Amino acid sequence: MSKGRLFIVSAPSGCGKGTILAEVFKDRKVYYSVSCTTRKPREGEVDGVNYFFLSEDQFSQMIAEDGFLEYATFAENSYGTPRKAVMEKLEQGIDTVLEIETKGAFQVKEKIPEAVMIFILPPSVRELDRRLRKRGTEDDETIAKRVSQAKGEIRKALDYDYVIMNDDLDPAIADFKEIIDNCTDPDARAQGFKTKNEQVKKMIEEVLEK
Ligand code: 5GP
Repeated sequence: MSKGRLFIVSAPSGCGKGTILAEVFKDRKVYYSVSCTTRKPREGEVDGVNYFFLSEDQFSQMIAEDGFLEYATFAENSYGTPRKAVMEKLEQGIDTVLEIETKGAFQVKEKIPEAVMIFILPPSVRELDRRLRKRGTEDDETIAKRVSQAKGEIRKALDYDYVIMNDDLDPAIADFKEIIDNCTDPDARAQGFKTKNEQVKKMIEEVLEK
């Protein structure tokens, strides 16, 4: 059996990443990796579903056991991808999705070069700020921190394989599907989302400026 494909998806929080992924993979067999984190659960989050919520000690233990495919610190919390489940699914031929931040994404790409890296952009930094406020799960200080962090993340989008923009949900979903389905076809529309294209680079710069 051939191996499953590995998709690494990154986006600043508030980019609608969850909504896009749910829609894209609705009719596709896929394994969503469940990460470990030392962050406290937000309201409604369930242990073992959204994340495995670990103590600092438990997280350190996982590192000591080489249990992570990658791990990184983000907003003063630790996040990591459990290695075993991901490698098993790929071996079983099941496509797998990692929703992780950029530092971890590059670690995975180094270990598994055939992984496909996709970055989802917000239309502008200002719009991202507005979406985070609307969500209402964080205070002003945290939001300001998240926005400045998002800018750093967006700069790294240039080193991803593909970048799409979530300005309107439906086109963003269509673009994402196009990458998943046709990225190996040299004539497909998917090629237009590659970061080697000048217009994609320009789009990233514009998002940072606005
Ligand atoms: P949040 O706290 O909002 O759920 O996630 C914060 C950031 O951590 C997001 O960018 C999310 O994609 C990222 N993240 C979630 N799980 C992992 C993981 O296992 N590894 C890494 N490196 N980042 C993760």
